Amino acid sequence: MRHFAVVGSGPAGFYTAEALDKAYGESARIDILDRYPVPYGLIRFGVAPDHQSLKAVSKRYDKVAESAGVDFIGNVAVGRDVSVAELLELYDAVILAVGSPHSRKLGIPGEDLPGVIGSAEFVGWYNGHPDYTDLDPPLSGEHAAVIGNGNVALDCARILSKTRHEFEGSDIVGHALDALDASAIRTVTILGRRGPHQIAMTPKELGELGHLEAAVPIVDPADFPPLAADAPLEPGLRKSVGLLRGFADLDPDKPKRMVFDFFAKPVRIEGDGKAERIIVERTELDEAGAARGTGETYAVPASLIVSAIGYSSAPIDGVPYDERGGKFLNDGGRIADRLYAVGWARRGPSGTIGTNRPDGYEVADQVAAAMAPGSASDRPGAKGLKALLESRGAMPTDYYDWRKIEETETANARPGSPREKLVRHDDWLRTLGRS
Ligand code: NAP
Repeated sequence: MRHFAVVGSGPAGFYTAEALDKAYGESARIDILDRYPVPYGLIRFGVAPDHQSLKAVSKRYDKVAESAGVDFIGNVAVGRDVSVAELLELYDAVILAVGSPHSRKLGIPGEDLPGVIGSAEFVGWYNGHPDYTDLDPPLSGEHAAVIGNGNVALDCARILSKTRHEFEGSDIVGHALDALDASAIRTVTILGRRGPHQIAMTPKELGELGHLEAAVPIVDPADFPPLAADAPLEPGLRKSVGLLRGFADLDPDKPKRMVFDFFAKPVRIEGDGKAERIIVERTELDEAGAARGTGETYAVPASLIVSAIGYSSAPIDGVPYDERGGKFLNDGGRIADRLYAVGWARRGPSGTIGTNRPDGYEVADQVAAAMAPGSASDRPGAKGLKALLESRGAMPTDYYDWRKIEETETANARPGSPREKLVRHDDWLRTLGRS
C-alpha cells in the first residue's frame, strides 16, 4: 500500500487525487487535506457566485471524494497543525495544491489606505471566505475603481454593478448581497495599464457585461487600433476585442456605468485618511508591447479601489519559494524528493479550472514513475496523521462532516439561492457539534 497526501481541496487538489486514484486503484490511499472543514477551495471561495455553471464542477469532485481510495481530511492546516516535513514522514508523497490565496501588491504609494482592497479579500468577502467576512468594503461613495484587465477584474466590476434581482440563483453570501444592494456606487472604472489588444479577459465573461440590468459598459473608440489590426489576433482575443468594440454601440443611458479606461497605469492613491482618488499615468506601448508612461497624469475618483492584478501562494516553512513568481520553486511540479506542487502553487496564478486537470494528471504520472502502482511502503498515512493531530488537540473533519455542513447551508438558503453559506469557522464546527 502507498499513502499520498494532497494538501488543498481546490480543483488542482481534486484532479490530482482523481489521477492518483485511477493510477493506483486499491494499492494506494489518498488523503486530501484542507485547512477548512469545507472543500473545493477556489470553487467555493474564488469562482464568482453568479457563475453557478462553473461551480457545478464540484459534483465531479464529490465523486472523487466518495471513491474508496480517497478521503477528505478537513480542518487541518499544514504549517500550523502539521508540518510538511512531518507529512513526508507519514506519507509516500506530498502534493501541494494550496493555490494562490494572496493578492499581489501594487507597490504604489497610498496602497495601504482604507478603501484599497486586494481582489483576494474582495472576492473572499462576497464568496463567504471566513477571513474576509468582516471586510466591510466602503460602498457609500459613487465611484469605485478596479485595477487590472483580467477576468478577476471583470468579476469584481460585475458584482459591484449587478442588481439584487440579478443575484437570483447565485450563492452570494447574505451579508454581501445586502451591502451591495444598498451600495451607492454608480461608476466603476476598470483601469488597464495597456490597451484593448492586451486584455486578459475572455469572451464569455466580457459578453455578460453587455446584458446587465442596470449597468452598461463604456469604451472610448479612440483607444482602439484600426479594425484591420484585429485580424491577426488569436481567435479568443479577437472575439473579446470585438465585444469590447461593440460596447461603443450600447445605449449608455443606464443608472450604472462600467468605464474601461485603457492605457492608464496606477501611480499613487490619494485621500484624507482613506482612498478618495487614484492617480494614473497615461501610457503607450513600447516596442516590446509593455506599458510606457507618457508623463501625463490625471485623477480617477474612487472611494473603493479593488486591485485585481493577480495572486501569489502563501509560503510554507521548509518549502523553497519563488518570490517573483509567487509560487513554490519546482521543476515541472517536482519540488524535492517525494514533494510536488500542482495548480497555481506550481505554475502561478493563470489558466482556467480545467487547466488544472492535465497539470494534476502529469504530476500523478511523475509520482507513479517514482513508485510504481502496486509497490508498498510501511509509512502509516492517515492513521499516523490522525494520531499526531489527536496528540496536538486538533479536530480533523471528514467528507461526511462536510455533507452535514452542506445540508445546513442548503436548508438555510434564501429563496432563489442554492445555499446560504456558513462563513465562520465556529459556525462550521458548531454545525458538527464540535465547538
Ligand atoms: P490575469 O488574467 O493575469 O490578469 C491580471 C491583470 O492585471 C492583467 O490585465 C495585468 O496587466 C494587470 N496587472 C498586473 N500587474 C499590474 C500592475 N502593477 N498595475 C496595473 N495592472 C496590472 O489575472 P486574474 O484576473 O487575477 O486571473 C487569474 C486567472 O484566473 C486567469 O487565468 C483568469 O483567466 C482566471 N479566471 C477565470 C475566470 C473565468 O473563466 N470565468 C474568472 C476569474 C479568473 P498586464 O497584462 O499589462 O500585465
